[in-house]
Amino acid sequence: MKENSVFATIYENICRDTGRQNESAKLIAVVRLLTLSMLVHSLICCMLVSLTGHIGALVFSVASPVLFLAVFVLSYHWSTFASYCVLNVCILFWTCMNIYCFGWDIGIQHFLVVLLVFVFFCKYRHEPVKVLFAAALFLLRLYLYFYCHSHTPVIILDTGLTGILQTVNSFFIFLALGLVAYLFSTTTQEMEGKLIEYNRKLMKQANTDTLTGLYNRRRTMEYLENLLSAADSQISICICDIDHFKRVNDTYGHNVGDVVLKTISETFQKRLPPDTFISRWGGEEFLLIFPRLNGDEASTALETLRQKIRDLTFDGGFENFTISLTYGLVEYDYHSDITTLLKEADEKLYIGKENGRDRIVF
Ligand code: GH3
Ligand code: MG
Ligand code: MG
Repeated sequence: MKENSVFATIYENICRDTGRQNESAKLIAVVRLLTLSMLVHSLICCMLVSLTGHIGALVFSVASPVLFLAVFVLSYHWSTFASYCVLNVCILFWTCMNIYCFGWDIGIQHFLVVLLVFVFFCKYRHEPVKVLFAAALFLLRLYLYFYCHSHTPVIILDTGLTGILQTVNSFFIFLALGLVAYLFSTTTQEMEGKLIEYNRKLMKQANTDTLTGLYNRRRTMEYLENLLSAADSQISICICDIDHFKRVNDTYGHNVGDVVLKTISETFQKRLPPDTFISRWGGEEFLLIFPRLNGDEASTALETLRQKIRDLTFDGGFENFTISLTYGLVEYDYHSDITTLLKEADEKLYIGKENGRDRIVF
């Protein structure tokens, strides 16, 4: 546990934001991690190069870790962009110098590919600059290749040391590439995740009623159009309306009225068949769509619901009260349009109201 927290603290410090506005926290973390990996890499190379006993190469290989250490420390003081640019220059310098000293066979030239990936992931540069930089890296690589084939390196390494340096360089090149790709791809994935979640919330807001959480009229029309256009089974539609709801508001207050609306919505969701499409059609009116029930089956389901709603008791403050709804039910005849169906359901609802409310008219 303790070790874990030490690593977590180190990692947190490496990833520490510059605190400047409009600077990417992810980029500075990548810059620091890459600098650290270059620091370790150059230290190992320094030890290996010391075996050759060449003074010039030794001075260069001692200077490199110092350089990367300086970039790391200064990354806490400079802007992210400055640290990023300096690191790019240092890696370029380090690559060219290694090739100049030890030749092509130690495999250090692949760091140019790391720089290529790094520049394309960075959000700072404009596309044309990135393309120019990529072209410059390509030309540099070609130049270094031809240079190496027409010049002997400053230090000729024996095959054993060349193999070891090739292995060490390959390891750190893979590490650096993996690091850059991993850290930047997590940003993309996070952003994608956030966008999906944001879209989901937007869709929910556009389709639902805020008070009850039921589908709103817009979504209901969309659903009905799709349902009726592809109808391959019986469909029943019901418009229901709370009886004397104005009286509830006037007697117990608007807040109690809202509680009634919410409770009824929950009762619909609990008591109706699971595939029923339930929506708040208007103020205290609801539209219920039964996509697989004929009129008689829907009527049976509504009768159970009607009873359950009659059994609910609401707290009005100074007294408890009960409520009821009236239901106008129609069965889809496979050719009526939506307007006609809704008008028919509305007329049945009106008949129910006229005949004493709290009933299903089919
Ligand atoms: P009926 O039995 O004929 O349907 O009578 P009613 O009183 O229910 O019908 P009326 O159309 O006269 O009144 C509907 C009331 O519903 C009036 C309005 O203030 C109330 N209402 C509509 N939306 C809301 C809401 O979101 N919250 C609350 N608390 N009341 C609402
Ligand atoms: Mg009403
Ligand atoms: Mg009404």
